[in-house]
Amino acid sequence: MIQGIGASPGIAIGKAFVLPNWEWDLPEQKIDVGDLAREFERLYEGIRTSKVEIEQMKDELREVVGPEESSIFDAHIAILEDPVFMNEIQGIIQRQYKAAEVAVKEAIDHFVTMFDLLDDEYMKERALDIKDVGNRLLKHLLGAPEITLPSDTQPFILIAKELSPSQLAHLNPNHVLGIATLAGSITSHSSIMARALGVPLVVGIESKLEEAIQTGDMLIIDGEHGIVILEPEQRSVEQYTMKQKLHQEKKQQLRGIVGVQSVTKDGKELELSANISSLKELEVALASGTSGVGLFRTEFLYMDRSRLPREDEQYEVYRGAAEKLDNKPLIIRTLDIGGDKQLDYFELPEEENPFLGYRAIRICLDKPSLFKTQLRAILRASYYGNVKIMYPLISSVEEVRAANNLLEQCKQELRAEGIGFSEEIEVGIMIELPAAVVIADMLAEEVDFFSIGTNDLIQFTLAVDRMNEQISYMYEPFHPAVLRMLKLTIEAAKRTGIHVGVCGEMAGDLKALPIWLALDVDELSMSAQAILPVKEKLLTLTQQASREVFDRIMACRTSAQIHEILSPQPVKAERENEQLAERQTAERQPAAKLSK
Ligand code: PEP
Ligand code: MG
Repeated sequence: MIQGIGASPGIAIGKAFVLPNWEWDLPEQKIDVGDLAREFERLYEGIRTSKVEIEQMKDELREVVGPEESSIFDAHIAILEDPVFMNEIQGIIQRQYKAAEVAVKEAIDHFVTMFDLLDDEYMKERALDIKDVGNRLLKHLLGAPEITLPSDTQPFILIAKELSPSQLAHLNPNHVLGIATLAGSITSHSSIMARALGVPLVVGIESKLEEAIQTGDMLIIDGEHGIVILEPEQRSVEQYTMKQKLHQEKKQQLRGIVGVQSVTKDGKELELSANISSLKELEVALASGTSGVGLFRTEFLYMDRSRLPREDEQYEVYRGAAEKLDNKPLIIRTLDIGGDKQLDYFELPEEENPFLGYRAIRICLDKPSLFKTQLRAILRASYYGNVKIMYPLISSVEEVRAANNLLEQCKQELRAEGIGFSEEIEVGIMIELPAAVVIADMLAEEVDFFSIGTNDLIQFTLAVDRMNEQISYMYEPFHPAVLRMLKLTIEAAKRTGIHVGVCGEMAGDLKALPIWLALDVDELSMSAQAILPVKEKLLTLTQQASREVFDRIMACRTSAQIHEILSPQPVKAERENEQLAERQTAERQPAAKLSK
């Protein structure tokens, strides 16, 4: 059994197809001075053909996963138009008299090595994009055939060193049971797309495993736990087939509560809403009976393209979401870039501590025209649904007022232009900094709602970088300090009478549910897949008992004690194994009877 990282949930059992490397070794071919013009012409022709091909893939993909994910290819086209990349290639041809394909290969290697050296996941992903586009260009220059996946065979599990977005675009989800890659991270484009396509994915498998797997080998992939099993024994196949079945049955069973009201046994109603970053994800959320969108992360609209999205482009997406929600709340969070989220075309300064640096609302207040473009788009969309605005990373009353001033300017402009928007649009803030918690009573008087961003609040309260694996064991949602932060925030909101929700990962954590009930939060916003499991648990709890649990955990001095109180039942994996054992016994029984 090999442990990788679970990047897209689900279980796949089947035969491997190992994707050959889409890379070529090129002999160093020199050219004569007289051939320069011809080499440039070959280069330009290769670029033109590559662009046409990328556009075609983009169109194909749009139908499968929606416009946002397919816009990843805009970034690829932008690379083919990037003057720095092109100058590098042209320079190698012109100054070193090398053939176009050799120049392209050297330019790819140069940029990929450079980006790979940076200790930054985002830049490593960009290196993958450059390799992908560069290899496409090389393929045309060499007249090499496209590496295609088998489509006329049995469905297979795809094994690749790394999988580029364009390779994923060619995948037919009906032919691919699952994917395992040597490289990759959960936040890479490919992982995002695999989740959108519903294909189980494990990334970061060890290189020796990748070498050991041959096309045709039998494999099991568990995309939730990040497990790959090569040539499994019959017992494992049976066990995972059963898990797959249980998984499907559980999903099916949960569908039965889609229309059921989210309310505890003693009548406390809790809105269960979804975190989304694209319209495609909204579809999944609606199918899970979401009460609305508690967090629309708008960064995705700004990423994977070569320029800032225009007001109209943003408006179309926000309006589309508002209309699909049919008057259910849609909380649109304004741009939250910086930290680990960078934009190719937007040069952010190198910083010692980017998470504490120039990011989110700080950038928006520093660049009013960028901010106003988004605010105008959101306001215009508010005409078509129940849209609310939320500012991220707020640390002071001044920031809220400055943002609201710009919002007011936008409203005035729209009124003057005769463009409709909701005059009653609500404005809220994320509470994700300890400073905001401490002055929550003051902030509550400035806004219509709070949404607690536990992901950042935990990292800032405990001074534990949420991206740093070495100290991830210290990233503790159930730390007494975090619980006190939550209590302070929610009580401040309640005293002022404003709506309070939670939109960090902790909102979808079943263990945390008694905390939210005890503190009487109004809304939990989570990934769409978490909504039904949370609702299922909510239906079994009471607010009264949750208050008693909360009093006990608030008296605890260590996280270990808190965990003990919150999870008296066996942990999930143990429970799954128990269920499995019960099922296996049950299924064996008729056979046993027959043999008697
Ligand atoms: C959070 O910080 O909890 C949050 C929801 O925002 P993000 O994860 O996008 O930083
Ligand atoms: Mg945050």
